Amino acid sequence: MSYDYDLFVIGAGSGGLASSKRAASYGAKVAIAEHDLVGGTCVIRGCVPKKLMVYASQFSYLYQYAQGYGWEVGDKKPRPKFNWNKLITAVDTEVKRLSQLHISFLEKAGVELISGYAKFIDAHTLEVGDRKITADKILIAVGGEAVKPDIPGIEHSITSREMFLLPEQPKRFAVWGGGYIGVEFANILKGLGSEVTQIIRRDLILHGFDEDIRSNIQAGMVNHGINFLTQKVIEKIEKTEAGLQIFLNGDDTEPLTVDALLCATGRQPNLAGLMLENAGVEVNGKGAIQVTPDSRTNQPNIFAVGDCTDRMNLTPVAIAEGRAFADTEFGHQPRFITHENIATAVFSNPEGATVGLTETQAREKFGDNIKCYTARFRPMFHSFTGSEEKVFIKLVVEINTDRVLGAHMVGKDAAELIQGIAIAVNMGATKKDFDNTMGIHPTSGEEFVTLR
Ligand SMILES: Cc1cc2nc3c(=O)[nH]c(=O)nc-3n(C[C@H](O)[C@H](O)[C@H](O)COP(=O)(O)OP(=O)(O)OC[C@H]3O[C@@H](n4cnc5c(N)ncnc54)[C@H](O)[C@@H]3O)c2cc1C
Repeated sequence: MSYDYDLFVIGAGSGGLASSKRAASYGAKVAIAEHDLVGGTCVIRGCVPKKLMVYASQFSYLYQYAQGYGWEVGDKKPRPKFNWNKLITAVDTEVKRLSQLHISFLEKAGVELISGYAKFIDAHTLEVGDRKITADKILIAVGGEAVKPDIPGIEHSITSREMFLLPEQPKRFAVWGGGYIGVEFANILKGLGSEVTQIIRRDLILHGFDEDIRSNIQAGMVNHGINFLTQKVIEKIEKTEAGLQIFLNGDDTEPLTVDALLCATGRQPNLAGLMLENAGVEVNGKGAIQVTPDSRTNQPNIFAVGDCTDRMNLTPVAIAEGRAFADTEFGHQPRFITHENIATAVFSNPEGATVGLTETQAREKFGDNIKCYTARFRPMFHSFTGSEEKVFIKLVVEINTDRVLGAHMVGKDAAELIQGIAIAVNMGATKKDFDNTMGIHPTSGEEFVTLR
């Protein structure tokens, strides 16, 4: 049987773009469908615009810290003043430029871009707009979307998608949820000058990260003036002239009044409307596409990568899964990626980053055969700034083998540092290997090779 395409990819985000170009490089005839801007969550409404806003939010602290180093801000105008509209416009322009760049990369790779929403008709046929398209193999790379709890007034809250489009900076801003997306936006808005409250249902943010990372980041955020309401859930939201009124569980006090509420309580795969049932593709109990380690669904010609499989929802993971799929199916190089030792960061203030096992995970796996090495210190940068901010670093080591199972850090440039350390952890470096490495002086990173 002949098909229109060797491969049809649904979704031009991180996973879809990487796999379509890789498959085309092996000579496959490939098309990709996208119903929104090409680039997906990461480029359009995730990692990229967020990181640009993180950079914007850091200047307020730098202006403040500069004074300790002899820089005089002075009383005369112009004094540093933040312009929300200018930032949002610049971010939007950059996102659109990157989207165009990705379109040109597809053209260069010989991948046909089809604009529109794709739906399954059967296991080899899709409908995009008024076109019916057949393909030998189909890759689902539709990503995920934020979901909001079903409570009265929830329509007055926004998700991370709308954060990049707010016409005005909310003076009073609340975040619901303690995951990394909520934490990052709380810090961004605080740095830009908003009054920020973060509402979490546990005592600490960042469930799943090492306990020391969680407590050190949260302490740093409190230090910057972010107000935490812990062990709380929102029961109801009302829109009034004074702002959004947020009613919390077990609270008989006044509701919290804010100008904007970011609902960052969770995300789920983008499967509604895809008509997976027409192709007989199975979904697991978490509402994600069920796949094998090499990204196969239960249908032999249909595959899925990225957030829609809910394995590890990060851009480099979606890209790696997509490339492994293309190498296996079109490049005759069968391989799959493991989801171990994947470094990740929280672009908060202070920043956090991690690779490998947390202390809790290591103890579950290795019992008492674990030793943790930690250091908490004032970085040299803060010698004159007056800031109380500390750097925290931690190595989790298996005693018998001396292998470093996990490395964790809170502090300036933690993500940049842990990226390098991730290579060592991935290669199975021992604590002795760390100790035998000469430090770069004076840096925060040298502490990783001098831990006692
Ligand atoms: C606010 C935020 C910040 C983030 N920050 C980071 C970060 O700093 N680092 C990091 O590694 N990860 C980050 N992520 C996660 C990262 O963005 C995702 O893991 C990554 O984009 C997943 O790639 P994907 O290809 O699976 O899906 P996506 O990038 O979401 O792409 C899916 C694409 O499919 C399209 N689509 C969906 N259904 C259809 C259909 N039926 N037909 C046609 N097109 C369709 C969508 O429009 C979308 O463009 C962040 C996410 C968010 C929300």
